[in-house]
Amino acid sequence: MKTALLWFRRDLRLGDHPALQAAARDARVVPLFVLDPRLPRRERLLASLAALCEETDGALAVRRGDPSDVVVRVAAAAGATEVHISTETSPFGRRRDAAVEQCLKEVGIPLIRTGSPYAVTPGRTRTAAGAPYRVFTPFLRAWRRHGWRPPAGDPQVEWMGDVESEPLPEHADNEAGERVALHRWAEFCANDLTGYASARDRPDLDRTSRLSIALKYGEIHPRTLLADLSERRDPSTGDVERFVTELAWREFHADVLWHHPGSAWRDLREEMRQMRYDEDPSALAAWKSGTTGYPFVDAGMRQLLAEGWLHNRVRMVVASFLVKDLHQWWPVGARHFLDHLRDGDVASNNHGWQWVAGTGTDAAPYFRVFNPVSQGLRFDPDGDYVRRWVPELRHLPGAAAHEPWRHTEGRAGGYPERIVDHAEERREALTRLAELQEGRR
Ligand code: FAD
Repeated sequence: MKTALLWFRRDLRLGDHPALQAAARDARVVPLFVLDPRLPRRERLLASLAALCEETDGALAVRRGDPSDVVVRVAAAAGATEVHISTETSPFGRRRDAAVEQCLKEVGIPLIRTGSPYAVTPGRTRTAAGAPYRVFTPFLRAWRRHGWRPPAGDPQVEWMGDVESEPLPEHADNEAGERVALHRWAEFCANDLTGYASARDRPDLDRTSRLSIALKYGEIHPRTLLADLSERRDPSTGDVERFVTELAWREFHADVLWHHPGSAWRDLREEMRQMRYDEDPSALAAWKSGTTGYPFVDAGMRQLLAEGWLHNRVRMVVASFLVKDLHQWWPVGARHFLDHLRDGDVASNNHGWQWVAGTGTDAAPYFRVFNPVSQGLRFDPDGDYVRRWVPELRHLPGAAAHEPWRHTEGRAGGYPERIVDHAEERREALTRLAELQEGRR
């Protein structure tokens, strides 16, 4: 029987795993993960690897180093005749895989790509004329029309695990891995899918799936979710449709990044590249530490530091505040998010930022500026979310927590003054846009 190496990356699971299925078809499988020193080392990743190691009966080898070197050495040492991967579509991953493929080629081992972290592999959803999409709604229609395969079945795998490995943390009592992800998904379907369409926008309610971290590491595949959802469709509520649409946003951002790899850190819309921005270290520091004087923004920024996760509505509001109120270029904020988010993903994050900044894909105009106070009043109507993350405002009842400046005792807890006036900065943002449009820059 031949030997195949499965190089795990953003696919840390065994179920619904086309590349594993391809590797195990007629070979023993050596499972490998490479800790690449160019990528940040995260506790969450190690926990996920520990779970995967258990699932592979301890066979998973975790090695540190440059993948071009490690993958070739491990494959050669194990006598593997092929290396299997899930297709990577981010700019960094594509470059890395091309380099590894070249090194493997030199020793006569093919790199075989099967499946990807998406229901529809980025690059496949195109207009009738074969062009990529830049606006979400038509992409969504075409993505649905394209469709996806049912989940891959569970293959019988003969693991081969005599390769030396880095030590991993004890798996007992952690919250990572495929089983935990499947359990979370089942709980979400049972408790929170009904009502998702309306409750998903409320950060105080905690009614979203929180599966973004599991999806980032590939502990669960979106196709698994879509297959379950197709059996639960109830047109009278729109909840399932809404969840499918959110998954499609993830696919859309990955698709755009695949077609425009340079847009990871540069404005997608060329006409926005002349925009005038500020560099203000003290304003940036206030934003990062959650001390801008705007409660909804500060609650979000503190949650980000404490939990490494943020609700989508809050991501949009804090991002808008940095770009439109503090006039900073979006990559500054995107970098901070990626440094702290446990679900940090360059496609969803950087194109989420570009969407808010008006430099990216959205058909919505740049002059949309989120009002940090009315957003808070609307999506955290009783102020519970703000009080959860901003202790200095806990003495203010209900919605009062969103506007401490209106109450005599508003700052009794030591909460800071607003660092800018939103109405003024909104006008300033629109002035800068008008400069661009009039070609003054
Ligand atoms: P749910 O509401 O349960 O949605 C289910 C899944 O759909 C999510 O797990 C996610 O995979 C996908 N999804 C939902 N909304 C979006 C969206 N707007 N864009 C792309 N995918 C979406 N998501 C990340 O996974 N990683 C990031 O680094 C990231 N950065 C963001 C930065 C900004 C500025 C913005 C506006 C959004 C960002 N998002 C990012 C998208 C979204 O905020 C998160 O996916 C979502 O909040 C995760 O929570 P959840 O899993 O409970 O979502």
